[in-house]
Amino acid sequence: MEKIVLIGAGYAGFKFMEELKRQNKDKNTEILWLSKENFMTKKWLMDSYIVKDKDEKVIVQVRDFIKEKGINVHWIEDEIETVDTQKKEITGKKGKYNYNKLIIATGSKAKLPRIECAESVKEKITAFNSFYDFKKVKENLKDSKNVAIIGAGPIGFEMSVNLSKKFNVSLIEFELDIMLALLTGKPLYRKITGKILDLRNVHVYTLTRAYKFEQNKLFCDNIETKENFYVPSETIVFAAGVKQNLPVIDGYAFETEKNILICNDFGEAWIRDENGRRKILNDVCAIGDSCYYLNIGNYPASAMFAERSGKNVARNIFQSKCKNKKRLDFNPSLYSKFLDMILRRLRLISLK
Ligand SMILES: Cc1cc2nc3c(=O)[nH]c(=O)nc-3n(C[C@H](O)[C@H](O)[C@H](O)COP(=O)(O)OP(=O)(O)OC[C@H]3O[C@@H](n4cnc5c(N)ncnc54)[C@H](O)[C@@H]3O)c2cc1C
Repeated sequence: MEKIVLIGAGYAGFKFMEELKRQNKDKNTEILWLSKENFMTKKWLMDSYIVKDKDEKVIVQVRDFIKEKGINVHWIEDEIETVDTQKKEITGKKGKYNYNKLIIATGSKAKLPRIECAESVKEKITAFNSFYDFKKVKENLKDSKNVAIIGAGPIGFEMSVNLSKKFNVSLIEFELDIMLALLTGKPLYRKITGKILDLRNVHVYTLTRAYKFEQNKLFCDNIETKENFYVPSETIVFAAGVKQNLPVIDGYAFETEKNILICNDFGEAWIRDENGRRKILNDVCAIGDSCYYLNIGNYPASAMFAERSGKNVARNIFQSKCKNKKRLDFNPSLYSKFLDMILRRLRLISLK
C-alpha cells in the first residue's frame, strides 16, 4: 500500500487532509501526519487576539479535527529534522519514518532584524512563529504603554491599527514607504493606508533602521539623514517578513536563504541551491508558506495560497500523468486578497 506522509499541521496541512478525506482517498492509502505541535493556529485572527482581553478560539486541535472529519490517518507529534529523498526517509526528534510520497507543509518563520540588547530584555522582543509567541506578546502588553512594531508590511500595518486602540504605537520601516511590497505601483492606496495610521495616531518612521533596545527605548537611525533618535517602547514586535521554515533536505539547509525550496503549479518541489543548481526531489510536494511558488516568483505567504495549494496537491498526488493533474493558478488581485482578509476575520472563511 502506498504511504503518504504529511509534515506540518498548519492551515495548508489541514486543507490537504480535508481534501484527501473529501475524495475518500484516506481509505486505501496509508497516511501518516507528523507535526511538532498538536494544534493549528489561525494566524490571521492573531493580531486582534493579542489586544482582546478575553481569550477566544484561535487554535484547532489536530486530534479533534481528525475525529470530527473521520479521517483515516495516523498522527504523531514530532519535530522533523532531516529528510533523505534517496532513501525516502524522514528523521524526527522521536523517530524515523518512511514514505512513498512526501508533502512538506512546515510553513514559514519570521525574519529577525539585528537589534542589540541585553539578555535580560530579550523577552520583550517577539517575532511571530508559533501560538506561544502571540501569547507572549499578549502577556508583555499587560505592562506596556508604548509598543514599537518593526516592519510596515500587511502584518505590521494591521497590528499597528489594532494596537493603537490601547497603546502608543511606533511603526518602523526600512523602506521609503509603508506596504511597499503589497502595494507596489499603487501610491494612492499606500497614501490611504498611511492616512489610516495617521488617524489612529500611529507614529510612522520610514527609511529608518532600529538598531538597539535599552531601558525601554528603541534606538533608531534614519538611513538618509543619519539622524539618531529613539522611540519609547516596553514591547517590540517584529513584522519584518518571513522566510521558509524547513528541515534539512538531502543535506541542504534553508536557514540562510541561500538554498530555496521551490514548487511548480502542480505542487512538485525541487531545490535551487546557492550556485543556482537544481536538485529535483522525486515524490516530494510543498504546500503553503513552506514553498517559493515558481509561477509568481515569490513566497505567497498567505492563507489563501495555503488553502489552494493544500487542496491542489491532495488532488494531484494520485495522478501519475502530468496532463491529469490540476494546475494551481495563483495570482490573486489586490481586491480578492482584501476580500479574503475581511471574510477570514469575520470567520466566514474557516475550516469547514
Ligand atoms: C499575524 C498574521 C496575520 C495573517 N493574516 C493573513 C490574512 O489575513 N490573510 C492571509 O491570506 N494570510 C494571512 N497570514 C498568513 C497565513 O496565516 C499563513 O500564510 C498560513 O497560515 C500558512 O499556513 P501553513 O500551513 O503553510 O504554515 P503554518 O501555519 O506556519 O504551519 C506550519 C506547521 O508546520 C509545523 N512544523 C514546522 N516545522 C516543523 C518541523 N520541523 N517538523 C514538524 N512540524 C513542523 C508547525 O508546527 C505548524 O503546524 C497571516 C499571518 C500572520 C502571522
